[in-house]
Amino acid sequence: MKNSRDEAAEDFKKLPKATREISSFFYLVIDATIENLHTTYKSTEIRCFRKKCEGIIWSEIDENGTDINWKCSACRNGGNITGVF
Ligand SMILES: [Zn+2]
Repeated sequence: MKNSRDEAAEDFKKLPKATREISSFFYLVIDATIENLHTTYKSTEIRCFRKKCEGIIWSEIDENGTDINWKCSACRNGGNITGVF
């Protein structure tokens, strides 16, 4: 018998590769940020997902404590993740 976690994993595999990569990326950024709960930019040690970019992603919790801001150290890649907390 399957549990809901198996089903979630199977659903995840059905997603397009790009979607899975971006989901994994956000998961890792959230995980790294929550671990330290820092409100100034710090390295997550996660590589930027842009092709040919060698940058490292930096993240912070925004001043309201509600969002995670992230940016690449090398390219203009960046954004925020809302609704984490
Ligand atoms: Zn980059």
